[in-house]
Amino acid sequence: MRIAVYSTKPYDRKALEEANERHGHELTFLEARLQENTAALADGHDAVCAFVNDQIGTEVVHELADQGVELLTLRSAGFNHVDVDAATERGITVVRVPAYSPYAVAEHTVGLMIAVNRRLHRAYNRVRDGNFALEGLLGFDLRSKRVGIIGTGRIGQITARILRGFGCSLRAYDPYPNDEVRDYGVRYVDLDTMFAECDVITLHCPLTPDTHHIIDEEALSKMKDGVMIVNTSRGPLVDTVAVIEGLKSGKIGNLALDVYEEEGDLFFEDLSDKVITDDVFSRLLTFPNVLITAHQAFFTQEALSNIGETTLSNASAYARGDRSGNEITPENIRPNRREGSHGAPQGEPEGDQHHDAEHTGAGQTG
Ligand code: NAD
Repeated sequence: MRIAVYSTKPYDRKALEEANERHGHELTFLEARLQENTAALADGHDAVCAFVNDQIGTEVVHELADQGVELLTLRSAGFNHVDVDAATERGITVVRVPAYSPYAVAEHTVGLMIAVNRRLHRAYNRVRDGNFALEGLLGFDLRSKRVGIIGTGRIGQITARILRGFGCSLRAYDPYPNDEVRDYGVRYVDLDTMFAECDVITLHCPLTPDTHHIIDEEALSKMKDGVMIVNTSRGPLVDTVAVIEGLKSGKIGNLALDVYEEEGDLFFEDLSDKVITDDVFSRLLTFPNVLITAHQAFFTQEALSNIGETTLSNASAYARGDRSGNEITPENIRPNRREGSHGAPQGEPEGDQHHDAEHTGAGQTG
């Protein structure tokens, strides 16, 4: 297929070119983000390949369809940046990479927890500056601390397994509790109980209307003073203005983010020469107990290689007239939207042990 690859970075190109040795598609690499004023660049292509900060709303879908694009192959699991209904209506098949390395994200999550707790980001700079003082670097043992995991899908489960090795006491909230996770010693609780009991809360659920701002002022008011919050999932799960207030009051003792509500204007670009005009983001950077990485949790060699292979094998399956199994349809998004409810703690639905990860991946991903 002739595929226009948007938002291409050198590492994307390398992974896709390697995978393409097995698939033989015609790839056009474009640095531009896919949005209304760049959709025309897909003219002459059968397929478009896009990443997380491409904006594939209704207008873009129509423009792509008018140009004859038949396939949208996402290099991500998340698809909340795509108007799937419009794509379906216009006959564009949307496929994604449902899982490429949950280990990459889980390991980065735990890395952030340790780094922000032990202030490794500050220690690194101090030592380079000849400052060997320890004031301001005091952390706590993770052992025996209660960690709450919101969302126990692929990444949440692996995070639980790693944290069990640290001797943490694990709690979880998920509308679809999972027996395997219970085997790691995780106890499912409702959100209010988690907020009241946990020293650390880490987010691994998708972004849906139910989970938007799942961490907001009200949620924070139910948490322990000095709580650590970690978000490697999707920016809008956290109300940034509320967490800034939480940091100022001391309610939040540590905040680690790999994603940010308005990251589309910032992340994946070198803006070190530019003025950052996002005052909310700039405020976050002023706190000594905040550590932010720029959506890099997915960024391992293994993950990039899996993304390249699945992205192109999805296109190959389409070209052969087969289904890859990674298609996104309006039907397979909706079950997730009905589940889970912010502010309405559910605990464990009686007798509901169902966990269908394919039906729960509506969130954004790296
Ligand atoms: P998954 O689909 O395997 O698991 C998601 C889990 O969330 C499921 O168990 C689901 O039941 C649960 N869930 C759904 N609604 C919920 C709710 N209201 N409250 C609590 N839990 C709920 O997804 P995954 O592969 O584990 O990925 C999790 C998230 O990680 C993705 O949605 C994505 O946003 C993020 N992600 C980030 C990066 C990165 O680079 N930072 C990379 C990959 C994925």
